[in-house]
Amino acid sequence: MSQSPSTAATRPDDAGAPGMVIIGGGLTAATAAETLRKEGYHGAVTIVADEPEIPYQRPPLSKGFLAGKEGEDALLPLPAEWYPENNVTVLTGTAATAIDPAAHTVTLADGTTLPYAKALIATGAAPRRIPFPGVELDGVHTFRTKADSLAMKELFTGGGKNVVMIGSGWIGMEIAATATELGNTVALVGLENVPLSVAVGAELGTVFADRHKEAGVRFELPASAAEIQGTDGHVTSVLTTTGVTLPADIVIVAVGVVPNIGLGQDAGLTINNGIEVDASLRTSAPDVFAAGDVANAMHPVTGTHARSEHWANAIASGKVAARSMLGKDAVLDDIPYFYTDQFDLGMEYSGFGALTKDAQVVVRGDLATREFIAFWVLEGRVVAGMNVNIWDVQDAIKSLIASGRTVDTAQLADPKTPLEEI
Ligand SMILES: Cc1cc2nc3c(=O)[nH]c(=O)nc-3n(C[C@H](O)[C@H](O)[C@H](O)COP(=O)(O)OP(=O)(O)OC[C@H]3O[C@@H](n4cnc5c(N)ncnc54)[C@H](O)[C@@H]3O)c2cc1C
Repeated sequence: MSQSPSTAATRPDDAGAPGMVIIGGGLTAATAAETLRKEGYHGAVTIVADEPEIPYQRPPLSKGFLAGKEGEDALLPLPAEWYPENNVTVLTGTAATAIDPAAHTVTLADGTTLPYAKALIATGAAPRRIPFPGVELDGVHTFRTKADSLAMKELFTGGGKNVVMIGSGWIGMEIAATATELGNTVALVGLENVPLSVAVGAELGTVFADRHKEAGVRFELPASAAEIQGTDGHVTSVLTTTGVTLPADIVIVAVGVVPNIGLGQDAGLTINNGIEVDASLRTSAPDVFAAGDVANAMHPVTGTHARSEHWANAIASGKVAARSMLGKDAVLDDIPYFYTDQFDLGMEYSGFGALTKDAQVVVRGDLATREFIAFWVLEGRVVAGMNVNIWDVQDAIKSLIASGRTVDTAQLADPKTPLEEI
């Protein structure tokens, strides 16, 4: 077990009173640790992170970092020196193997136990694995970690590879864009008729698909992989369920993620599409909290549980969890937000995806110019909004959603009417 970058002297078991133990080494963990200190907590804080890295964030992994346009700094929510300077111990390369809510201990892979006053489960999510025939061949990858991004960067750089993406969601589309920009030939296989249509509907998904097609991305939709084929143990092609053979030097399976619930499940916590938490991110066990991709939190606005797999939620929930761990009033009531960058398409989305299914889509601007705002309007109220290549409008979109006021859709569609006046 390594103890980079902090020292053994800051470990709670050495320091005396049990402190805060945060399990997971992602953005949620970093944000929670930072918030504990910002809120004035002076006790021991330990982050248990199974990857060999100090906490890092993932969005650049499929975009600028993969493309070689951004360096390591873009990955770090907090610089390496922040941890020792703030007396936060990061146990890198160390998996937590058990939580005992009754004993208030976390067990580590080497058998050590850490006592805690409060524990936060921020274990994130892992790529969903589907047992496609041939998935074990060399050249078949999933994509989640910095190591995955570095490996793909090496393979993509220089171009000339045939890349098959299995999965037509955000990550699949982003990697497809970056691989194409690096000079590779990309084919994308997905279950939807139109990529991203589960998230934003077919009309808006088409905007992204068309941009990809312009750049040469081939789509085989709707289809799945019937077989990943290879020679001498290495992938050579993907046979789709529609009978098409796609040549492949590299296959990336990006078919969604599953929350890392194992610790919570074994500890007897309530599990329901992730670790179920209330709006203050408390699990069913006293003094155990969960946040980020792993947590299925009650949202006070919708009155339902929702598990978000997005960057902004990692930050917002990390903050709420830390305050909650300190016994302060804290509720995760942010309007969900996420963003994507694909080729020259930059997009931000905020709102309640679950409410968009039966909503009317109102577009301000022109889809063809790829500069527009799309609103989802349900029973006269804006429940979600997405701006593409138009900036500095998220505050106005969020306040429209938060206000719950009835809107005039003609005004909404009219770029001459300021959003603040609707
Ligand atoms: C390639 C990629 C691009 C993305 N791009 C965007 C984007 O553009 N916009 C957006 O909104 N969102 C994006 N996301 C989603 C966003 O990165 C996630 O929502 C965010 O990473 C969640 O943070 P987290 O800390 O909850 O979980 P994670 O980032 O998954 O971190 C959890 C960490 O805990 C570790 N862990 C798990 N179990 C244990 C254990 N037992 N002991 C110790 N450690 C453990 C994991 O290995 C991992 O390091 C992207 C995700 C990926 C993978």
